Amino acid sequence: MSAQAPDPFGGAPERLATTAPPVPDAVQPLVQVRDLVKHFPITRGIIFQRKIGAVRAVDGVSFDVRRGETLGIVGETGCGKSTTAKLIMRLQKPTSGQVRFEGQDITDLRGADMKAIRREMQMIFQDPYSSLNPRKTVGSIIGEPYAIHGLKREKGERKRAVQELMETVGLNPEHYNRYPHEFSGGQRQRIGVARALALRPKLLIADEPVSALDVSIQAQVLNLLRDMQRRFGLTLIFIAHDLSVVRHMCDRVAVMYLGKIVETGSGDDLYAFPRHPYTGALLSAVPVADPSHHGSERRLLSGDVPSPANPPKACRFHTRCPKAQELCSRQQPQLEDKGSGTLTACHFPLSREEVAAIGVRSAG
Ligand code: SF4
Repeated sequence: MSAQAPDPFGGAPERLATTAPPVPDAVQPLVQVRDLVKHFPITRGIIFQRKIGAVRAVDGVSFDVRRGETLGIVGETGCGKSTTAKLIMRLQKPTSGQVRFEGQDITDLRGADMKAIRREMQMIFQDPYSSLNPRKTVGSIIGEPYAIHGLKREKGERKRAVQELMETVGLNPEHYNRYPHEFSGGQRQRIGVARALALRPKLLIADEPVSALDVSIQAQVLNLLRDMQRRFGLTLIFIAHDLSVVRHMCDRVAVMYLGKIVETGSGDDLYAFPRHPYTGALLSAVPVADPSHHGSERRLLSGDVPSPANPPKACRFHTRCPKAQELCSRQQPQLEDKGSGTLTACHFPLSREEVAAIGVRSAG
């Protein structure tokens, strides 16, 4: 069975069936995510556990990632961005929805088929301290993907490949036999990048790769990722909670709130004229190092993000939104074009005057 579906993420309507006719590589997105849902059950009882609810970590997320581009996924802690990444990587199984990689539905792949796909997609984790095994040398950590996939088996071949990778990411190849604790935070993240590049993946997912690093080191790691992307023609999904980090990295940006995408578009459009009040608040909170930039009022978000186990009805942002009206708690807004280039899920999107008033610097 095949289904015809409108594609709000660019391009003509497409067929969702796996039997769809082949699409040329140049036009087919590398990753297609459709209606992705991940609910973690909340249970009670020790011996006889019964489900009493669910944490709605990801709740109906759809987007495409085109070849060679960088997509930023941004939002506060708990918005579901890291879970989305794990679902794409199939480190977790979705509750429902579909993930396609190079046109192939990988949602239910298992065993050898999934292992083959895993060679094509790799992940860099947030914490360079806990994501490296302290008992293994850097050489064996970076060479682990070769061991898992049975590659570079000849004597000396694996070591040569690992040392080449170390050099590529700016590490001294002579430190091959050192342990992770002998490296600084930035160097450890370079080790993570080298390990992720070992199999020459097509897709790299970087889950908050710089948020655990000192500010002085962050730019180095971001530049490294950009260099590697150019050099190896990578497609990158870059996850961050800080819109200012994403700005210089990403071609397109998706803003998530409580398991849903609330605004998405090209970086230029989204930063120039954010329409969703949540995007506006995130951008308004970005510090601006410019003494001439005054006269605007920062819009800081009040309150905590509501629990994803019991998200607000209709628009999930209505409990914190300064523009909320009665309709917002009654009817869920759809992600649609509001005439400024981005797709926005909001009944009462920001106007240019409002964007300028809250100090989003690039509003034209
Ligand atoms: Fe705010 Fe209403 Fe828009 Fe939701 S739909 S973001 S509550 S204005």
